[in-house]
Amino acid sequence: MKRLNKISGLLLAAVLITSPAYAAKPKYVFYMVGDGLGAAQRQFSEFFLKEKDRKTDEKLLMDTFPVSGLNSTYATNTLITDSAAAATALATGHKTNKGYIGQDPNGKDLETLIEEAEKHGMSTGLITTTRITHATPAAFAAHTPDRNDENGIAEDYLDSGVDFFAGGGIRHFIPKDVKIANGDAVGHTIKSKRKDDKDLVKEFSAKGYDTFIGKEGVKKFNATDFNKVEKVLALFTYTHMPYEIDRENKFQDCPSIADMTQAAIDVLSKNKDGFFMMIEGGRIDHAAHANDPTGVIYDTIAFDKAIDKAYNFYKQHPEETLIVVVADHETGGMGLGFDSQGYKLDMGQLLDVKASIEDNIFNGAGLEYKQGKREAFLTMLNTTYGLDNLTAEEKAMLEKGMDESDAGKTFGYYKYDPAAIAATHILSQRANISWTTTIHTASMVPMSAIGVDAQQFGGYKDNTEVAKAMAKVLGFSI
Ligand SMILES: [Zn+2]
Repeated sequence: MKRLNKISGLLLAAVLITSPAYAAKPKYVFYMVGDGLGAAQRQFSEFFLKEKDRKTDEKLLMDTFPVSGLNSTYATNTLITDSAAAATALATGHKTNKGYIGQDPNGKDLETLIEEAEKHGMSTGLITTTRITHATPAAFAAHTPDRNDENGIAEDYLDSGVDFFAGGGIRHFIPKDVKIANGDAVGHTIKSKRKDDKDLVKEFSAKGYDTFIGKEGVKKFNATDFNKVEKVLALFTYTHMPYEIDRENKFQDCPSIADMTQAAIDVLSKNKDGFFMMIEGGRIDHAAHANDPTGVIYDTIAFDKAIDKAYNFYKQHPEETLIVVVADHETGGMGLGFDSQGYKLDMGQLLDVKASIEDNIFNGAGLEYKQGKREAFLTMLNTTYGLDNLTAEEKAMLEKGMDESDAGKTFGYYKYDPAAIAATHILSQRANISWTTTIHTASMVPMSAIGVDAQQFGGYKDNTEVAKAMAKVLGFSI
């Protein structure tokens, strides 16, 4: 008996000595936020991968992680949240009102995980495919009751201490009246949205940031060895970055969310105290708002490729890395299955789509139908949006949409072009999916995790509890 105790004591000592991971907190943290990435969006994108690659066992990487759970997303003042209140919950562990950024409903500033990470000596990064001043990244490093005050959010960033910023939204960082024709990564004209003469790009530069702005910034970014860089402000587009489907087909030079993630890893991993980065797949939400199924799919897969960059890093540092994948809310009320066509989804209908509806409408021939060129619009939908061989019923839907558009009518809460929505709904019907709304829903959303203390991110949690779990794991007080 005595001998047995001695042996088990030795064994315990051996376990403690050889398994520092159980005692240590994660040094490298990837907090991956899919905006609008509900369960249907994840499942649907995975079905598309299987169909496209003809591999029935193919999965999204995020769906293979060993720990998974579900999150509730509601805000203080509404059960259907927005990205501001949801991201504030994920960043601070506190519920707040819709539209509030890093503040409680009384307007009091809340400590964020990024701010705590800095206090603990970690390097920090914010990456998104939206404007960098958009609600999700903003909630991690800015404080305002008005998510639309993006000029103010840009100023908050200057003093935030965050080491790596990448995304879109040059317009909030340059002095008023500045205009650069065709200057951004997708050929759009850059115009300032500021009301003052502040040149934040210059001020970031003075603080030691390498800046990568617009079209020229893309060239510089693609030629940079980020292992040699300390701080980054990368703003590639006037407003949001392109949807992934458009980036892949038209703007291949423009860095993807995976490219930005890899650059951040190279910059931030030089710190011996580690890093904390928030990476947002920001436009899954926008595509779902427009009920655009392929827009959702391509941006979800691009987000998964960014997770793959994090996963590769995890494989090199498995005892020190934590990856947590969450969503802020569901968007669109996406339903995988539509009554009229019975028990089937037809993913094959989506394989020929080569552009987002937004790119089609605003950069393609979409606007021509307003000048009576309706055939040009239908041809464009055929060649880039996969809508060939229109049935009489489908053609009638599009004609009705164009009639309404010509009459100045709009569709839904965000006033979409009725012809554009007719097109996304026809494509959706062909795949046999449906949408309940062009805004968000209150559905719970999936979460998954891998790495050090990943088990803390399983089960059913409110979004505030995700941030609290993160703080607990890292020894932060938020
Ligand atoms: Zn949204």
